[in-house]
Amino acid sequence: MACIFCRIAAGEIPANVVARGDGVLAFRDVNPQAPTHVLVIPTQHVPSSGHLPVSERAAVFGAVMQLAVEVAAQLGLAEPGYRLVVNTGVDGGQSVDHLHVHLLGGRRMHWPPG
Ligand code: 5GP
Ligand code: ZN
Repeated sequence: MACIFCRIAAGEIPANVVARGDGVLAFRDVNPQAPTHVLVIPTQHVPSSGHLPVSERAAVFGAVMQLAVEVAAQLGLAEPGYRLVVNTGVDGGQSVDHLHVHLLGGRRMHWPPG
């Protein structure tokens, strides 16, 4: 059984898609932690940031981060600013084991993060 983000990428379960790119997809988080909360994923299954073969890292991270920055601009966040987060593993707070970048914006973020 494919993971939940693979199923979203395949269109098997609905999501509020905001943008698509070559091998990447951006959709609204179902449980938003900020006025704007978008997840950007590679459409291929990658369990976490540590699981990509070295030869694919630059291409996959590049594509995901590029779409995240484009969506941020499309949603009017370029000037006020925003935060991109990649939770990884247990200590990182990762709950879905398919690589994703959180795009958070629309309010002032705190530092250090919780
Ligand atoms: P993580 O905790 O792994 O960094 O982030 C996973 C995110 O996926 C969470 O913010 C959670 O709200 C979101 N999420 C989990 N299941 C779904 C789903 O079925 N649809 C959408 N749109 N987001 C989901
Ligand atoms: Zn997956």
